[in-house]
Amino acid sequence: MLAGLLSRWRQHREARLLRRHEIPEPLWQLTLARYPFLARRSAADLAELRRLCSLFLASKEFHGAAGFAVTDEIALAVAAQACLPVLRLGLPWYEGFVGIVMHEDQVLAPRQWTDDDGVVHEYEELLAGEAMEGGPLMLAWSEMDPELQDGDGPVYNVVIHEFAHVLDMRDGEADGVPPLPSLAAREDWIAVIDPEWEAFCARVDAGEPTLIDPYGAEAVEEFFAVAVEAFFVAPREMTQEHPRLYALLRDFFQQDPARHG
Ligand SMILES: [Zn+2]
Repeated sequence: MLAGLLSRWRQHREARLLRRHEIPEPLWQLTLARYPFLARRSAADLAELRRLCSLFLASKEFHGAAGFAVTDEIALAVAAQACLPVLRLGLPWYEGFVGIVMHEDQVLAPRQWTDDDGVVHEYEELLAGEAMEGGPLMLAWSEMDPELQDGDGPVYNVVIHEFAHVLDMRDGEADGVPPLPSLAAREDWIAVIDPEWEAFCARVDAGEPTLIDPYGAEAVEEFFAVAVEAFFVAPREMTQEHPRLYALLRDFFQQDPARHG
C-alpha cells in the first residue's frame, strides 16, 4: 500500500519535472545535428535520451565561470552527451554531484608534485575538463563546440570523457574499473582492460596512429575514459580496432552503438 503510494508519487513528480523541463523541438534537433553520433541512434533510444536530458537538467546546476553565459543550447549539449552513457544504467549513477562549471576556454590549473628529494615543483596544466569525486564537474565549451573541432585524428569528446570518470569514481577511486556487481566481474574486467591498455601503450610509443586518443597511455583510468569516448562516438571503428574492449563496454553500458553505425 505504502510502496504503491510512493511509486505513484514518484511517477507524478517525474511527470511534473518532465513537463517543466521539456526540451523544445528546435533545440533538440539542433543538438542532434551538431552531434551526429547522437542522431544515429534509434528513435526509441532518442526518446529515452530526451527524457533523461530533461531530468538531468532538472537535477544539475550549471555555473558559467568569469561571466560565461551558459545558454540552453550549451546546457543541452552537455546533458545529451552526458546522458548517453547512462541510457540504460540510469541517472542515479550521476547523483554524487550537482554542480557543472562551464568555462569559455580551457583552464590553466596550478599543479605541484614532490620529487624523490622532497623538492616541490610547481607547474600549470591546461584543462579541457575535470571530474572530481563529489563534484563539481568542469568543462570548457571551446573543447566541445562542434564548430571548433577539426574532426581529424583520434576520437575526442570531453563531455563523455569526464562523465566516464564520474562512473569510474562512483566506487571511490578512478582506477579504470567502474563499480561492478561482483569481485569476479571486477577480475574479469581487469583481465581485459589491462592487456588492452598495455598493447595500446606500445602502439602509442611506436608512434602508430590510433582511433582511441593517445592520451589514454597516461594511466589506465585515462585509457578507460578515452575508450568510452570511442565506444560512443566511433563504435563501428572500435569493433574493428578493439573487439574485446568494445564487448566489455557493450556489456557494461548495456548498449550496442555499433548497430546504429
Ligand atoms: Zn581524464
